[in-house]
Amino acid sequence: MIIGIDLGTTNSLVSIWQDGESTLVKNLLGDFVTPSVVGVDDDGRIIVGAPAKDRLLTHPSRTVAVFKRLMGSNASIKIADLVLKPQELSSFILKQLKEDVEAFTGEKVSEAVITVPAYFNDTQRKMTKLAGRLAGLKVERLLNEPTAAALAYGLHEEKDNEILVFDLGGGTFDVSVLEMFDGIMEVRASAGNNRLGGEDFTRAIAQYFTEQLNHDGLIPSDRLHKLEPKILAEAERAKVHLSTHHEYESHLVEDEKRFAISITRQKFESVCESLLSQLQQPILQALNDSSIAANQLDHVLLVGGATRMPIISKLVTKMFGVFPNKSLDPDQAVAKGAAIQAALKSQDESIEEVVLTDVCPYTLGIEVVTDTYDSKLVQGVFSPIIERNNTIPTSKMQTYYTANDNQESINIKVFQGESRNTANNIYLGNVTVDVPKGLAGHQSIEVRFSYDTNGLLEVEALVVQTAERTSSLIVTGEDDLNDEQVNKSLEKLKSLKIHPRESMENTSVLYRANRLYEQNIGEKRELVGRVVDYFTGILESADEEKINAVREQVNRELDQYEL
Ligand code: AMP
Repeated sequence: MIIGIDLGTTNSLVSIWQDGESTLVKNLLGDFVTPSVVGVDDDGRIIVGAPAKDRLLTHPSRTVAVFKRLMGSNASIKIADLVLKPQELSSFILKQLKEDVEAFTGEKVSEAVITVPAYFNDTQRKMTKLAGRLAGLKVERLLNEPTAAALAYGLHEEKDNEILVFDLGGGTFDVSVLEMFDGIMEVRASAGNNRLGGEDFTRAIAQYFTEQLNHDGLIPSDRLHKLEPKILAEAERAKVHLSTHHEYESHLVEDEKRFAISITRQKFESVCESLLSQLQQPILQALNDSSIAANQLDHVLLVGGATRMPIISKLVTKMFGVFPNKSLDPDQAVAKGAAIQAALKSQDESIEEVVLTDVCPYTLGIEVVTDTYDSKLVQGVFSPIIERNNTIPTSKMQTYYTANDNQESINIKVFQGESRNTANNIYLGNVTVDVPKGLAGHQSIEVRFSYDTNGLLEVEALVVQTAERTSSLIVTGEDDLNDEQVNKSLEKLKSLKIHPRESMENTSVLYRANRLYEQNIGEKRELVGRVVDYFTGILESADEEKINAVREQVNRELDQYEL
């Protein structure tokens, strides 16, 4: 069985193909969603998901989140006394999801389809594959998140159509334009803003509440500052409430006084006007890059929790003149699509074959020397061969000339990126070809780049005068990973202790209670403290039946102390 994983920045999900449909699998705490958070407990054991997320507040130096943003970078992340790479942290999440499926099905799992943002570059993709490998998973395919969403909506079963996937998560915004043509699903273009998401809408409301509370000096600014976490929690609640209601009314208690706060849907729209206009720019870019006009779109899919806001549907309807598809849970569509791809990959009989193609998300090219108007040579200039958003597989050719008199060889240095200066792009490899001596500019070579869906780039150089061909496979794919590095990572991870699954549910309740103790003050804090003592006592009794009976009750009791 191949499992489908949505390895998200804030949350991750896993699904499997079962009885002819994509089925999400719950984690050991009974949730579909596993927060992408990793922590180290007081005994040095790795903890993953919701319990780790609870410790973000209580043990910030022993917990990490949002490390997907660092994927592909050389960052070393310090967590307790460990130093880990983003792919190593991701591997803990993947391993837990794999074990969740194993617990659910009773079968061993060793293969996965993992989704990645369409804009992920080769290094980021390679590191995602490595994360899979470190988790004991062979990554059968990396699937672009928007393509996964389109599969989840069953659009691969339709005839030709043009699709826009609008993905607004907690902290990121991605837009992709997809085309389904002749049984082939293709990502035509992707754009986005990785600093714009649902949290910005929460902050806009928090800002509005702060103004209300500060109005006429009601609560002075210095005291307001202290109230920030509570205001943010209220703003988050208001945002979610406004998705199904027209008004939100509540109050904040400060020094035993109650202060009313409220916001209507209309006011919400006006406080996030600038955020709404920021959403438009990547949409226009993706449409432009894909050469598809807004009125040609057949479907607009909403993905990501923040698309539950009605203002998003409204924006989409206004921009494209179509109602968005939002019948699937926007948090689950990508994971569901991953399992569909997994079924396609293992050619489950219950699913029709569909060919997926991708785009090359970044420009690929080589380094050249150019001359200025006064004939000075400029080194390190990037010359694009395959431009970003070209559908892959693709093959493109460009002709280049020698730069110096009597030059004997040309070293073709391959880069990926968008900058004119190669120093700002990512170096991928090089190929050297011999050329006959002659005057500068008199010898030419034709450089052909062929790029396929496995991320393999074939560089072929033809020396025009001698008709000599040189070709080389550059980049990527798992094989390109340095085995020594991989083994070092594997050794390192093997030596780490992992919190046992059996006791995770109990630990999770305790961590939650400890978080709530820190978040509350006064009487409420006292009460939470008592819950902690009570539950700790029960745990010490080691009476499993009793513990199981009490745990749910304690969890429910804790609900009332959430901010
Ligand atoms: P994701 O990263 O896809 O899980 O998206 C999380 C974002 O979606 C957060 O900013 C949430 O506040 C937001 N969100 C989740 N549910 C709702 C809802 N019902 N209404 C508005 N925003 C929501």
